[in-house]
Amino acid sequence: MPDRAPPPVDRLLPTDEARDLLALVRDIARREIAPTAAEEEDAGRFPRELFTLLSESGLLGLPYDSAYGGGDQPYEVYLQVLEELAAARLTVGLGVSVHTLASHSLATYGTEEQRAAHLPGMLGGGQLGAYCLSEPASGSDAASLRTKAVRDEGHWVITGTKAWITHGGIADFYTVMARTGGEGPRGITAFLVPADAEGVRAAPPERKMGLKGSPTAQVHFDGVRIPDARRIGDEGEGFAIALAALDSGRLGIAACAIGVAQAALDEAAAYARERRQFGRPIADFQGLRFLLADMATRIEAGRALYLAAARLRDAGRPFAPQAAMAKLTCTDAAMQVTTDAVQVLGGYGYTADFPVERYLREAKVLQIVEGTNQIQRMVIARHLLGPESR
Ligand SMILES: Cc1cc2nc3c(=O)[nH]c(=O)nc-3n(C[C@H](O)[C@H](O)[C@H](O)COP(=O)(O)OP(=O)(O)OC[C@H]3O[C@@H](n4cnc5c(N)ncnc54)[C@H](O)[C@@H]3O)c2cc1C
Repeated sequence: MPDRAPPPVDRLLPTDEARDLLALVRDIARREIAPTAAEEEDAGRFPRELFTLLSESGLLGLPYDSAYGGGDQPYEVYLQVLEELAAARLTVGLGVSVHTLASHSLATYGTEEQRAAHLPGMLGGGQLGAYCLSEPASGSDAASLRTKAVRDEGHWVITGTKAWITHGGIADFYTVMARTGGEGPRGITAFLVPADAEGVRAAPPERKMGLKGSPTAQVHFDGVRIPDARRIGDEGEGFAIALAALDSGRLGIAACAIGVAQAALDEAAAYARERRQFGRPIADFQGLRFLLADMATRIEAGRALYLAAARLRDAGRPFAPQAAMAKLTCTDAAMQVTTDAVQVLGGYGYTADFPVERYLREAKVLQIVEGTNQIQRMVIARHLLGPESR
């Protein structure tokens, strides 16, 4: 393992508070997260205690209102926190991003009473969230989901199966999109379901290529009865609520991707300085220097794009197409950079003795989650050409 620590990323941060926050996050990442990342990913162990630490450190509600336990931070800052966490371990960065996604619906569309009742526990009370949109038969075409919610005397009874749920089986609450009306997007409503409600049951986690510490599981809702007070927004508004959460969530995935890519570049650059062939460090060869230069350029370009989208969001401007562009660019960059990092390390890069093969496996999933990169292109094209165009 190279012993020379790379310099931290030079970040433009808007306030002293944000600078202190990033310093705190780097410290937690270096001391608490990175040292056990490889071993725990190998073992498929979810670090619940780290999430308790992050919650106690105010890092599980950063972009939300401090009146409810959030951190009042702009997305520009929150995303750079995610990037640092993901660079140390994707399971943690992505976990915070998914928790923030799961909290978005209630924080944004909940009533005053709902927010007062639930948000403090979600944003700073140690709870962990999951976001339930996908189903076994509806992924990219999420509006065709089949999980049903039926009214029953001031309550709703939810029945169906959600698939691919990050934190499935370990979450404390599930934000669930279910069908309450006819077919299509307008028949869907959002609900906040406590994990301990009767009839909620998670299947064993999927056996994945990477991101093994982060459980991904089907979650079954078997006649789960919840009060109407846990319905988020109006009946039929659930799909719009789900998509709004995803616009912001995609920025989180973009930031996580750049974190993974940066970690891979740091490893590759350090290795290239130390590894000698033909009597010289391999970093002396122009073929590798250009590869490393391209990796660094892709990362900077991706970071600039997700920050530009975040700043639009922070200014209250529309940002959905830019979020899709950032997700597409940053996750494709991560795939390319992690692949190139393995190349820089040669045969050693292909072994589990170095982290770059893990980064490569982790980068792949980021091109799939929260809308595949094909779906991001559809979102971008729709904004460009109008909703009537396919
Ligand atoms: C590790 C992991 C964690 C996840 N976490 C969550 C979670 O927490 N919550 C949640 O709700 N979901 C989650 N997902 C699900 C994820 O969002 C879906 O896998 C994704 O949306 C794709 O759906 P699908 O897998 O059913 O693929 P499909 O929709 O079946 O797509 C298969 C292929 O067809 C392509 N395709 C589909 N439609 C089109 C089209 N119109 N044009 C061009 N290409 C198209 C896709 O891009 C893809 O390449 C997770 C998935 C994984 C792998």
